[in-house]
Amino acid sequence: MKPIPYGRQDISAADVEAVVAVLGSDWLTQGPVIPRFESAVAELCGSQFAVAVCNATAALHLACRALGLGAGDSLWTSPNTFVASANCAIYCGADVDFVDIDPATGNMSVAKLAAKLASAKKIPRVLVPVAFGGQSCDMKGIGKLAKKYGFAVVEDASHAVGGRYDGAAVGGNQYSDFTVFSFHPVKIVTTGEGGMLTTNNPELAAKAALLRTHGITREPEAMPSPWEEGAWYYQQVDLGYNYRITDIQAALGLSQLARISEFVARRHQLADRYDALLAPLAVHPLSRSAEAYSAFHLYVVRIDPAKTRRTRREVFDFMRAHDVLVNVHYIPVHLQPYYQRRGFHPGDFPSAEEYYQRAISLPMYFALSDEQQDYVVATLTEALG
Ligand SMILES: *Cc1c(COP(=O)(O)O)cnc(C)c1O
Repeated sequence: MKPIPYGRQDISAADVEAVVAVLGSDWLTQGPVIPRFESAVAELCGSQFAVAVCNATAALHLACRALGLGAGDSLWTSPNTFVASANCAIYCGADVDFVDIDPATGNMSVAKLAAKLASAKKIPRVLVPVAFGGQSCDMKGIGKLAKKYGFAVVEDASHAVGGRYDGAAVGGNQYSDFTVFSFHPVKIVTTGEGGMLTTNNPELAAKAALLRTHGITREPEAMPSPWEEGAWYYQQVDLGYNYRITDIQAALGLSQLARISEFVARRHQLADRYDALLAPLAVHPLSRSAEAYSAFHLYVVRIDPAKTRRTRREVFDFMRAHDVLVNVHYIPVHLQPYYQRRGFHPGDFPSAEEYYQRAISLPMYFALSDEQQDYVVATLTEALG
């Protein structure tokens, strides 16, 4: 039997055709497909602007730069995330701190955020809530606190493209300044490597687009000292990067977007099936929020130590040995050696640490068949003893 991964892309014949068409065109990068991909994502999300970049890590960095995050500022995020959600602050010379999670959902706890803000010596400039596994945080609660304390919100929705919150698509930025998506192959739709920023603020969108290409502009109105040299002329007006995506990648993304509702609907079927099949076992799925329609990037269960003597490590190793390539999301970011060197310690965020001890991510992707899922459940049943 072929091993069953925890996540996997689904590439159709139409996807392949779209990519091949770009390869035969005049533009491999900075051509007409990137703006079409951006418009399609903006439309999907109901956001005014979308800026496509080479990956979500770059998108997080550009969001922080566009918001003016810098030395002396701080950014708060969840410890239960990929390291990129925190690293973006350090790229800007700012400090990072974390807000502990609600272990029921794996998302940042808004009660803990409120308590931390109330006693903080310094209010963060930027908050990065992460839609863990594809389920939005309590964005209304976060939005209220953002207004009260005056910080910006960058929603790390790397897991959540195609999800909904409070009746609207994730990425519409009703409660945030920016939303970030990732198009890595394990996520919901893919471009190979790729990311996107959405925002409703025209200045922030322009700033992110400028920094995506070296801080270089060709538009005279964006130049502090315009002078007419000729059609070759450009000015570097800020320090940016080469964070561009290619037309080849954008073509794949645009083609994939046509199936996004199908992708997410199948993930929901699989999640509902897991919920039913796992109910008798010594595991607990994450709880679902009534306001969110998750994109179900991940299906995480927590092992119940009162109901099995098997440790997470034993369960994990058993599954892997039986060709079920389970994974763990996430090692708390503050426990990484780099962050411990910056002053964080075990015990700082106990809910994230305790959650991490028990969490295991089961296979979850569009093409996972019911039969494969049955095999995953049977293997897990055996693993739990
Ligand atoms: C995948 C991921 C990222 C980084 O995405 P890339 O596109 O690989 O840079 C950032 N944050 C979270 C929560 C992620 O899962």
